[in-house]
Amino acid sequence: MNHVVVVGAGLAGVRSVEALRARGFGGTITLLGEERHRPYDRPPLSKGVLTGKTDSTIVDSDLDALEVDFRPGVSAKGLHTGVVETTEGELAYDGLVVATGAHPIRLRGDGHQHVLRTIDDALALRARLTEGARVAVIGAGWIGAEVATAARKAGSTVTVVEAAGFPLATALGPVGAHTAAWYAKAGVDLRVGTTVASVDQGGITLGDGSTVEADVIVTGVGVRPSVEWLAGSGIALDNGVVTDEHLRTSLPDVVAVGDCAAWWSHRYGRRLRVEHWDTAMGAPEVAVAALLGDDAVYDPVPYFWSEQFDHMVQYAGHHDGARLILRGDPAAEGVEGKPRWGACWTNEDDTLAAVLAVNRPRDLLQGRRLIESGQRLDVRRLADPAVALRDC
Ligand code: FAD
Repeated sequence: MNHVVVVGAGLAGVRSVEALRARGFGGTITLLGEERHRPYDRPPLSKGVLTGKTDSTIVDSDLDALEVDFRPGVSAKGLHTGVVETTEGELAYDGLVVATGAHPIRLRGDGHQHVLRTIDDALALRARLTEGARVAVIGAGWIGAEVATAARKAGSTVTVVEAAGFPLATALGPVGAHTAAWYAKAGVDLRVGTTVASVDQGGITLGDGSTVEADVIVTGVGVRPSVEWLAGSGIALDNGVVTDEHLRTSLPDVVAVGDCAAWWSHRYGRRLRVEHWDTAMGAPEVAVAALLGDDAVYDPVPYFWSEQFDHMVQYAGHHDGARLILRGDPAAEGVEGKPRWGACWTNEDDTLAAVLAVNRPRDLLQGRRLIESGQRLDVRRLADPAVALRDC
């Protein structure tokens, strides 16, 4: 293999370049990035960047030392056997890493809607989060909660509109309901069970015909994998690029990583596509091994964190079909106004399927290890936050 092309210069893309060199690949590497920026981290965009603590989140990676031909501002438009079609002509490859991530869903309407995916998005939105600005956030998921947090810190008046009955419904199920109190405490007007019909100039129109007036509208209702450029290439697509457990796609010498990859998980007996930083960080090592002829398997316990309303929220695992046990009292004041609680989800055989930790980082560490080990637990003890998870 002489030439590997990596499409997508986000975290998964740059980690793929690093993994190739770490494995001793001495050939040419070309890294294509639609954005005109060097690879950067996205989690701080909705945290430090939006609150003005930082302007740059560039990934600490020496592209010169990696001897990579980095082409910012160049997009892949199509794929034929052995050739990537780009906005600047054709590029032949022996190996290809698809790392094109995901892009935000936008809603209907002719009003300006901010989304939050890129550093440019974050800086544009930050400039609008001012004292007294009326900000409407659509969606009380991870992004919506973090945007609402930053907007309140900036002194804006914030309304969050959520279609489900409580925040974080898709990610956490009913446990998400316990975070509604954080919105109230922060002075955010949270309207649940409310759909949006359109984003208009000067506000949003709700499903019942009423309106919410706003100077700034932020849509945070999820993302779609960025795989349009692969249409017609023959690569299997189904909610992202379909891969096996080695992150190999249906095409020879093509692997996929990060937010755009839907990989086969042995652990969960199903295909997973996980839009988390940890996946973009860890998957490239396995994918690159596969590309270079080794058979490593990618089968992590998915991990995610969020910082919202001054709470550290961490989650590991996958809880579909598992039994929920609340751990601690979400309504308790806690130390310095920080409640410390969480949740565990258990499988039928009393092993741990997933763990949620709110201001309890140790629970996350121990819970993740328990999930990985598949150890049976005394599930009655899980509800008691005074008992360390590793002692359950
Ligand atoms: P991306 O980061 O999306 O990178 C893909 C790159 O490919 C992009 O630069 C894109 O422009 C480029 N591209 C797309 N199409 C093409 C093309 N055709 N040709 C060339 N280039 C292309 N995760 C957590 O675990 N915790 C958090 O707290 C957290 N916070 C987040 C906050 C925000 C605001 C966002 C947006 C994400 C957050 N995430 C968080 C998720 C995490 O950042 C993503 O999972 C991670 O960035 C995925 O990396 P990736 O490289 O797969 O995709």
